[in-house]
Amino acid sequence: CGIIGCVGRGDETLDTLVHGLSKLEYRGYDSAGVALANNHLDLCKHSGKIADLREALSDRTLSGSVGIGHTRWSTHGPPTDENAHPHQDCTGDVAVVHNGIIENYQSLRDELVSAGHTFTSDTDTEVVPHLIEDALEAGADPEDAVRETVDRLEGSYAVAVVVAGCDSVFAARNDSPLVLGIDDDATYLASDVPAFRDFTDKVVYLADGEFARLNGAGWTVTDTDGNVVEKDIDTVQWDP
Ligand code: GLU
Repeated sequence: CGIIGCVGRGDETLDTLVHGLSKLEYRGYDSAGVALANNHLDLCKHSGKIADLREALSDRTLSGSVGIGHTRWSTHGPPTDENAHPHQDCTGDVAVVHNGIIENYQSLRDELVSAGHTFTSDTDTEVVPHLIEDALEAGADPEDAVRETVDRLEGSYAVAVVVAGCDSVFAARNDSPLVLGIDDDATYLASDVPAFRDFTDKVVYLADGEFARLNGAGWTVTDTDGNVVEKDIDTVQWDP
């Protein structure tokens, strides 16, 4: 239901993500979670309110300077800790958050299970990290692995992905909103502007079929063929 992502926030990464999720509370949700990438992934997720996630985080140390977070409004599977996002692959090196519904998830899941993947949730979302895992194992770099995976999805989705050992957040959308927040030394990604409005008023709205990569060098938006799309940077006209 709500997505947040950020790069460039250093030690503030986790706080930035949780703050963003709290700003998306108005959308309604039943579970929340975050994943931070370093040379490995640190993840925490919980059914219930942001307060429950904060409680679960209180005795954990999550490190990483790029990250994603999610508030879930369940469509496939009840609101349990296992079904909360982010979802991971078998290796634990890929984490994905998703808004919307993947219409062809059952056939993808059947294919992945036949190929030996083990699923830990009831969600439509979990096919995404497993597809990325297969693409990585076949030799794709993280960006191509996410692109190839998104190409296989049918339905409405906004997805954001982090991969262990990779300093980027990847995102794609079809029929579900995503917006970038642009600051001098940090870049944000969210399903709605309030998630990062306390940090920047510069925004770039993604269109259906566009793919975004956020990293220390900044951000790029590309089309389905990988061509760079020149995007306008808008300024939001309301104060946080
Ligand atoms: N379909 C996904 C799920 O049930 C995502 C729901 C959402 O948009 O929060 O987990």
